[in-house]
Amino acid sequence: MTIDLRNKVVLITGASSGFGQDASRLFAEEGCKVVLAARRLERLQELASRIQDRGGEAIAVPADVTNRDEINVMVKSAIDLYGQIDILFNNAGFGRLSWLERLDPDRDIETQIQVNLTGLIQTTRAVLPYMLQRRSGHIINMSSVAGWIAPSTYSIYSAAKFGVRGFTDALRREVQPFGIRVSGIYPGPARTEFGQHTGNHPMKHSVLRKYFRSMTSEYVAQRVVDLARRPRRAVIIPWYYRIALFADRTMPWLVDWIVIQFLTKKKHRSAAS
Ligand code: NDP
Repeated sequence: MTIDLRNKVVLITGASSGFGQDASRLFAEEGCKVVLAARRLERLQELASRIQDRGGEAIAVPADVTNRDEINVMVKSAIDLYGQIDILFNNAGFGRLSWLERLDPDRDIETQIQVNLTGLIQTTRAVLPYMLQRRSGHIINMSSVAGWIAPSTYSIYSAAKFGVRGFTDALRREVQPFGIRVSGIYPGPARTEFGQHTGNHPMKHSVLRKYFRSMTSEYVAQRVVDLARRPRRAVIIPWYYRIALFADRTMPWLVDWIVIQFLTKKKHRSAAS
């Protein structure tokens, strides 16, 4: 089934850069009305103006997804203006990747879980009643390949992204009978501002890196729009990560060996210190 995206109202968190920014532009090009949310308002306003200059419809709403009042204002702004939210793209997130004992308990642990997992859950909870009322809607949750396979130094990031996957699966089964679709998207590495926030970690120094080319942000954003057009349970990109997922499920000892060999050995630990 293919859905016509014209005139759909799309709320996008984390719209100020990376996947969220590109997806906002692409949704607008499809004729959607896009509600752009993130903390950096100037960036959102700039993006909204660019979309409007090209004949699209967009509004910028400042929101920190760790703040429930701001989430409510964000959702209310979309409803007050457009009367409905057809698609929620829960995308805001960041990763702080390091050895657990070196992660800051507040900024790197609490906040990472709050933004990547709790914020996504609270945003969904705020939007859901409007979708239930209309018996229609699509929620697209941004997880990661790290929501299936947890490499060393990804402990908190993976905890959050595994959580997003669990939440996505449970919610899909909860709301599908009421006409609401819930999908998870699970990308591997892509070139965005994400790398500016991760800190120094062994993946940055690993030989594995040269075998895994990063995707462009636009490519991931195109897959998000495609998912909105043809809703599915899960999209894992690039395709070859499905092999790694299969290996992790069926031969966890092999994945342990590879991760320890290439990412966790003493030399990597000192390289990433
Ligand atoms: P970027 O750093 O480019 O974008 C992250 C976005 O999240 C920004 O718009 C940022 O906006 C927003 N954000 C961060 N914290 C908050 C907050 N507290 N409240 C509201 N918005 C917030 O990274 P990506 O585009 O790569 O990341 C987007 C999503 O994709 C994340 O969930 C990430 O985990 C996931 N992902 C990324 C991969 C990659 O390799 N790049 C791979 C797999 C998944 P602002 O700072 O203005 O608030």
